Amino acid sequence: MPELPEVEVVRAGIERHVVGATITRVDVLHPRPVRRDPRGPAGFAAALTGRRVDAVRRRGKYLWLPLDSGDALLGHLGMSGQILVQPPDAPAERHLRVRFALDGSDEGREMRFVDQRMFGGLSFSGGGAELPPEIAHIARDPLDPEFDDDLFVRRVRKRASGIKRQLLDQGLVSGVGNIYADEALWRARLHGERPGERLTAAQVRELLGHARDVMVAALGEGGTSFDALYVNVNGESGYFDRSLHAYGREGEPCDRCGTPVRRVAFMNRSSYFCPVCQPAPRRRRSASH
Ligand SMILES: [Zn+2]
Repeated sequence: MPELPEVEVVRAGIERHVVGATITRVDVLHPRPVRRDPRGPAGFAAALTGRRVDAVRRRGKYLWLPLDSGDALLGHLGMSGQILVQPPDAPAERHLRVRFALDGSDEGREMRFVDQRMFGGLSFSGGGAELPPEIAHIARDPLDPEFDDDLFVRRVRKRASGIKRQLLDQGLVSGVGNIYADEALWRARLHGERPGERLTAAQVRELLGHARDVMVAALGEGGTSFDALYVNVNGESGYFDRSLHAYGREGEPCDRCGTPVRRVAFMNRSSYFCPVCQPAPRRRRSASH
């Protein structure tokens, strides 16, 4: 599943090819990726045709393309989505779902939405150029220059819920997926179930710094391995197997203390942590004892 650094790589990759281009034709080859658009596939295509793309922006894992009309094309890659920029005569990808013919971009390329599992999608966002209302509830991410560290620390420390759950709460901070949450917690030596309200401000601030470091490192590696033309975000980029200390390492020795990394179920996914470096919080004594 693409996490924020990969979505940022995609954003930067498409930006190079589509800004300033006009969408001259939209072909929706499968209705599912545009299911969130009330206009339906034909209306979606009609609303976008003839519009010029002014930028490519991102909030958390959402991308949007502000259009010259003040509206936007909003997209999410879901589990397996890709956005490719291809020459128009390139053969159709197996899971090609929507194609956008572009005029005015370098050598007249096509932007293609390819998605095998189709959890991702695209929609037309009326008036969404500045910030699509559909994603206005999503907090900024730690790589956003306007992210407010102090506000984040204060909010985390007001809540009793576990720190990992808070890291994944898109209303509090966006873009920190399961992998980066586990890595940041490992670096900060914090167990994901430690209640936010029992962490010090310094601990929360340090954790945020680690989350940022992990994401920047992944962004750097993702950015070097991707081909500017073929923007691949299938979640199998090389950095997933490199430089991870916790995620996916069940039973392997902790890089700090050698204790086998443990895996536990967490919100339909898994959490990986070192049981020695990241001790579980002590349970509060129940009132009946
Ligand atoms: Zn350890």
